[in-house]
Amino acid sequence: MIHAARIHGLNDKPIRKGGFVLYWMEQSQRAEWNHALEYAVEQANGLKLPVGVVFGLTDNYSGANLRHHAFMLEGLQKTFQALEKRGIKAVLKHGHPADVALETGRDAALIVCDRGYLRHQREWRARVAGKATCKVVEVESDVVVPVETASDHAEYMAHTLRPKLHRYWAEFLRPVRRITPGRPWPDRRRLGTVGKKFMEFPDIRNSSRAVLQNLLKEFKLDRSVRPVCGFTGGTAEARKRLRRFIMGNLPFYDKNSGQPQEDGTSGLSPYLHFGQISPLFIALEVQRSGVLSEPKDRFLEQLLVRRELATNFVWFTPDYDQYSGLPAWAKQTLKKHTKDRREVLYTLEELEQSKTHDSYWNAAMDEMRVTGFMHGHMRMYWGKKVLEWSRTPEEVFCNLLTLNNKYFLDGRDPNSCAGVAWVFGKHDQAWKERKIFGKVRYMNADGLKRKCNIAAYTAKVRKRLEAVK
Ligand SMILES: Cc1cc2nc3c(=O)[nH]c(=O)nc-3n(C[C@H](O)[C@H](O)[C@H](O)COP(=O)(O)OP(=O)(O)OC[C@H]3O[C@@H](n4cnc5c(N)ncnc54)[C@H](O)[C@@H]3O)c2cc1C
Repeated sequence: MIHAARIHGLNDKPIRKGGFVLYWMEQSQRAEWNHALEYAVEQANGLKLPVGVVFGLTDNYSGANLRHHAFMLEGLQKTFQALEKRGIKAVLKHGHPADVALETGRDAALIVCDRGYLRHQREWRARVAGKATCKVVEVESDVVVPVETASDHAEYMAHTLRPKLHRYWAEFLRPVRRITPGRPWPDRRRLGTVGKKFMEFPDIRNSSRAVLQNLLKEFKLDRSVRPVCGFTGGTAEARKRLRRFIMGNLPFYDKNSGQPQEDGTSGLSPYLHFGQISPLFIALEVQRSGVLSEPKDRFLEQLLVRRELATNFVWFTPDYDQYSGLPAWAKQTLKKHTKDRREVLYTLEELEQSKTHDSYWNAAMDEMRVTGFMHGHMRMYWGKKVLEWSRTPEEVFCNLLTLNNKYFLDGRDPNSCAGVAWVFGKHDQAWKERKIFGKVRYMNADGLKRKCNIAAYTAKVRKRLEAVK
């Protein structure tokens, strides 16, 4: 049984006579530990119908470039293979995701979708619910505690949300039961119509990485941001990474996770972003590992509190991706210091090309631009320094979010908005007042030198860059 709090009816239309139940996949791009998928199978079995899955791939997906699409397609390929093994038909169509869902769902008895938290994802679901001629149900699978169950407002800080989440963990930290489809998809039957508007992709289940990337030639994408070699998309890769992390680094997470010279964190954020792995599955695997509670709790704090605080932020803050969405105290104190003299000013281009006087910062920017990832501790330093090197905080906010979302594989996520907003005091407290930052937390290179082996970090990044040259 899927917890009722995960299930949201999006319209008042009835389940009607139709040939199948459609799961319109968007956020939760996986064939396992996916409440939306299992709900669709359960409903289809009740109606004695087969299940079909559609994914709509669009050129203009909220700033996604070639790097993001290549990783996502790799993941979808494996998801489709896994769905086929379960007797579930899955197709990829080129078109606006909401239009693809509507067109494919024309003959469906019921449309099920997963929940996305960002503005465009919410708009797409509302459009499908409004225009579909059948019932549309959304099932929430990419957080452990459903966002509206945890809280009914934007939380001030982690410590205000934490006790609310803790209260629900026993109820929601439960495995997802895998349901066998009662009716396999009939051979040769198409999944919905394929009008001129929607090109159906050739079957991608057995395509090589090169063929997948070739498919994207049809797309109007920013190709300057190349795919990365350090991350391969897909649920199996994510599981492998999780296993390696639990066996290797999790026991030391409380000591090493703040050390950017080590690869001591899970590296799971890109997989979480694309829904290729379930946070619930990660949490249960970590909980049942034989690791001591200190490192385990530290990790679960990141995965289950910080991550769900970010979800809370974007869900309850309409302008989550704008400067206006910051706390009033932070905007006030930063405003008071806008006239403070800056030692240096850098343009967006100089920042993007790592052309600052700060070699630690440049290494972090190189890591981001070339590998699509950056250690969490360096993400904080990276953001704070740009605040110091720009004319206005409004300009910094925009530049940071642009770079974050352009280069990180895990960018364009609720965590991206919360992470960038944190640089400006969101989810943080006021500190001692100083130049430029006012009461917003400050970071400097001396702190890095004191707290970690920053020379080893820059050497690690240099080595990685040489390896991909
Ligand atoms: C300026 C700035 C920008 C950021 N941009 C992003 C982004 O674009 N995408 C993104 O996913 N995260 C972002 N973060 C949050 C965090 O740095 C990354 O999630 C983390 O470093 C990813 O590495 P990991 O998977 O190895 O994390 P681990 O340490 O292994 O943690 C496991 C998971 O917990 C979650 N998590 C960890 N730290 C945080 C945090 N501080 N806030 C929220 N969730 C967290 C992530 O989902 C992560 O995958 C940003 C933080 C800052 C300060």
